[in-house]
Amino acid sequence: MPIYEYFCQACHETCSLLQRMGANEQETICPNCGSREVSRKISAFSCSSGGGNVSSGAAGGFSGG
Ligand SMILES: [Zn+2]
Repeated sequence: MPIYEYFCQACHETCSLLQRMGANEQETICPNCGSREVSRKISAFSCSSGGGNVSSGAAGGFSGG
């Protein structure tokens, strides 16, 4: 899950919350003061270059002794 940064306009605190993809920011509540006056900030989550393909494979390594 991506981490979104929210800026609370009530207590002027920036908090990072784990939210699902396409989550509404209206239902986001500031964990500091509990206000809903939060605005989503642009998070630098997309820092991985290339295709994000996760392949699960078992790497077999046998070392003869
Ligand atoms: Zn707040």
